[in-house]
This record gives sequence, C-alpha cells and structure tokens, in this order.
Amino acid sequence: MKVNKNYAALEKSYLFSEIAGKVREFSAKYPDRKVYKMGIGDVTLPLVPAVTQAMLSAAEEQGNAKTFHGYGPEQGYAFLRDAISSYYRSFGVSVDSDEIFVSDGAKSDLGNILDLFDADNTVLIPDPVYPVYVDTNRMAGRKIIFADALESNGFLPMPDERQEADIIYICSPNNPTGAAYDRPQLANWVQYANKRGAVILYDAAYESFIGDPSLPRSIYEIEGAKECAIEFCSFSKTAGFTGTRCGYTVVPFALKREAMSLHDMWLRRQSTKFNGVSYVVQKGAAAAFSAEGLRQIAENISVYRENARLICATLDRLKIWYTGGQNSPYVWMKCPDRRDSFTFFDFLLQETGVVGTPGSGFGKNGEGFFRLTAFSDRDTVSAAMAEFQRLFA
Ligand code: PLP
Repeated sequence: MKVNKNYAALEKSYLFSEIAGKVREFSAKYPDRKVYKMGIGDVTLPLVPAVTQAMLSAAEEQGNAKTFHGYGPEQGYAFLRDAISSYYRSFGVSVDSDEIFVSDGAKSDLGNILDLFDADNTVLIPDPVYPVYVDTNRMAGRKIIFADALESNGFLPMPDERQEADIIYICSPNNPTGAAYDRPQLANWVQYANKRGAVILYDAAYESFIGDPSLPRSIYEIEGAKECAIEFCSFSKTAGFTGTRCGYTVVPFALKREAMSLHDMWLRRQSTKFNGVSYVVQKGAAAAFSAEGLRQIAENISVYRENARLICATLDRLKIWYTGGQNSPYVWMKCPDRRDSFTFFDFLLQETGVVGTPGSGFGKNGEGFFRLTAFSDRDTVSAAMAEFQRLFA
C-alpha cells in the first residue's frame, strides 16, 4: 500500500490556529482588555426570515408521507437552478438552468473540479490568494506557477504570454485583497485562455458585494468566456449560508476540450461521487433568491458594506494604503512603518486588541500586508477603528 506522498509536501496550515493561540495568550495575560475580532472570513448576521421560513416548511414536508422527498435530481432541484438562472439574468447574464450544478458550497467544487483535468497540466494561481487553490493542486501533484499580485498592479495581475498555463484561477472580488477586475481586464484573461486552450476556474464567491455597475459580477459578462471558463459561486457570503452550506457551479455547454464536453464530464463526475444537497437547504437557498429574500439579504450585505466603508474611511484619514473595501468585504492594508505581517499582527493586538489576518498567510506576496474583514458587528468595527485612529493618527 502506498499513500499519496503529495500530502507530505503540503505546508502545514498553521495560520488561523496560530492566530487563535496568540489571542488566547493575550486574553489570559490581560483578562480585562477587549479583543476586536476582524480576522475571520465568516459572516455574523443570521439567516434572513425568508430563508428560515422556507426551511421550516420544507422540514415539515419531509415529515409527511405525501410531500416527502428522497434522493433529489443530480444537478439540484429545478426550482433552485431556475432561481439561480433568474438571479444571473438580474445582472444581464444568460445562464441556462441546465448549465448550473447545485453544490454544498464553493470550496468542495473548487477542489472536486480537478477530477476533470490531467495531473500533467500546469496551473496558474495568483499570489496572494485563497489557499484552497494551491493545496488542492499540490494534493494532486500538479505543477503550479504564480501570477504576482502586487501593490504595483493593484493586486490584480494580468496575463503574461510567457507563462504557459493550462488551468487558471481567478478570484474576483478577491480573497484576501478585496481587489476586483474590471471588464477589460477580465477580457484580457479570457482572450489569453482561449488563445492557449486553457480553462479558467473563476471564483465569484464575493460577487454580491460588487456595487459598482462598471465591474463584472460574472465572468460570463465577457464575450468568449463560455468557451473557456467554469464559474463557482456560493450562498455563503451572499445569504449567510456558511453554516447551512449551499453553492453553485456553472459549467457551460460550450466548454469543450479534446473533443470532450466539460459539462458532460462534470455531470458524470457529480452523479458518481455526489448525492446532492438536502431538499431543506435547497428550499432555503431558492427563498434567498425570491423577491422578498433578495430584499432581506441585500439589507444584510449593506450592513457589511457600511462596516467596510467605515474601515476604508479610517484608513483614508490615516493615509494608510489599501485595496478592497469598496466592492468586497475585505480590506487589504499595507502594514504601517514597513512592518512584516506577523510583527504588525503582534503590535496591533498588543496596542489595541484588534485582531486581523497577517497577509503572509495567503502567499509570499502577502508579506507586509494585513487583511481586515467587514463581517464583524458594527460595535466591534467602530471600536476597532477608534483604536486605529488613536494609534496611527
Ligand atoms: N472561495 C473563496 C474565495 C472564499 O473566500 C471562500 C470562503 O471563505 C470560499 C470560496 C468557500 O465558500 P463556501 O462556504 O461556499 O464553501
């Protein structure tokens, strides 16, 4: 018996446990001092009433012989895929319900999609970025090359013809940098992918935070994207489903490589290895995209947006460089006084009790940067920003 040795080559994932350890130590040493948690990328507001009511009544249905549902359709119930298709239509994107696959969240599909690709492909991943892209490809032993996201390119790397990528990851609005591509920039990536015959894996988990109509909410707003891109999206940040679990992946009919339809391959993969998302959760997700649900989730998102605005206004006042915050729940700030990410983390915690995430945890180009999230409650954000003002003014 031989194990997959690629696991031994994975870097240990210490980031959040190291942070939690430092915070525990701080609280034990200074029991009377407040800690302002601005680090974790999880939502804090509960599910909206439209969602919980739909889930309650779906649970009742499951307890009644006449309305009980067993295994559901492989791609997800038509009522949810239709709701997702109309959601796309609301910002001008046409996606057929049958191109949509309902999942238990974007993370699983982002990893599982790699089943469709040969291990011999070269993968292009931005640095810094959501660590799942790197780790899932390391597990499969694929060659990884990086697209440098830097202060000089606003943390939005553009294609470099010299890089010979077969699979390209794009996350926009980005975690951790909050930076979002505009249409011409995304069109460049689509052109590069189509020219090479590469496939783009487009992570749109934060699309609902885009308020600026000049920015694309889906890669399918770009001509030619249906021939080269798979899009991953999630109810997690859009509707507070981080603990409820539901997402969706679009694999266009037009996406073909080596005479094979990636849509048909993904359907084959999912119907073999996945048995769907619970009926109750799919009912809740569909309710999030009902007229009432959309109004309610928009209210929650506006609370996070206002938090982000408060953070940005403070950094503007203090003349601290940052990206994000405008069309994203993440604000990616440059550590003042050229501190490295972890030194700044320790300094900030010690001086103010504010906890963020060291940028170096997201890739080598994150060194010297720091991520703050807008998912905390308003009081925490206000108090944390008052501390920033006091410390850096
Ligand atoms: N993609 C990005 C960029 C994320 O930041 C996250 C979660 O934080 C996910 C995907 C995972 O989302 P889900 O909860 O749908 O699995």
